[in-house]
Amino acid sequence: MKVLVAVKRVVDYNVKVRPKADGSDVDTANVKMSINPFCEIAVEEAVRLKEKGVVSEIVAVSMGPKQCQEQIRTALALGADRGILVETDEELQPLAVAKCLKAIVEKEEPQMVIMGKQSIDGDNNQTGQMLGALTGMAQGTFASEVVVEDGSVKVTREIDGGLQTVELKLPAVVTTDLRLNEPRYASLPNIMKAKKKPLDTTSPADLGVDITPRTKTLKVEPPAERQAGVKVADVAELVEKLKNEAKVI
Ligand code: AMP
Repeated sequence: MKVLVAVKRVVDYNVKVRPKADGSDVDTANVKMSINPFCEIAVEEAVRLKEKGVVSEIVAVSMGPKQCQEQIRTALALGADRGILVETDEELQPLAVAKCLKAIVEKEEPQMVIMGKQSIDGDNNQTGQMLGALTGMAQGTFASEVVVEDGSVKVTREIDGGLQTVELKLPAVVTTDLRLNEPRYASLPNIMKAKKKPLDTTSPADLGVDITPRTKTLKVEPPAERQAGVKVADVAELVEKLKNEAKVI
């Protein structure tokens, strides 16, 4: 079966992000960019399913500027078979991404779309759910275990206070949680091989998708600086300060 994996280009999780001077957005100039960590987990899951013989082809899709090719190449080095870049320099919001993915799903007809539960830049947690709604495919979000059976997939979901297992009829959308797997590192030979794997480029216009943003970012600002702490000599002093200074007990 064919699996589509959505990989997003985001600021690397080790980078301390800063807003632009005019507060209009996060400053991404000269900043290390990587695959969104949850998308890396999605690629790993698809590759494991391929290694088990359940999946026959993995297509990695990314939407955004030309440089998203780097993240697609990383997915190809991790084991995806071919890539599709939906190229645009315009801002892409979750609904626009979900609409582009829907157009690709209609063309590629995958049995499963595996995506991250969330992108670490926008913290949206929307695209997978929107794709499920737009296509009518079943959705298993926050997956910590994925078991493909004949014509269906069992997804164990991380929910508040426990786990829930749902069975979805294929084709389906699965979004990954942190504990689903631990992604491998790409080996140098695989990075070299990935350069020769096919990567097609299309655009939202080619897919017939209107990507006009539906929301407007008014301001981006860093969190308030934390006040320096104080050291207390003993528990009695701590209790006294909590009672009389912080007034929390
Ligand atoms: P979000 O709804 O923005 O938190 O993103 C959830 C997931 O949707 C990500 O982990 C990706 O799998 C997918 N996604 C979102 N934006 C993009 C994009 N520009 N390109 C590829 N995949 C994306």
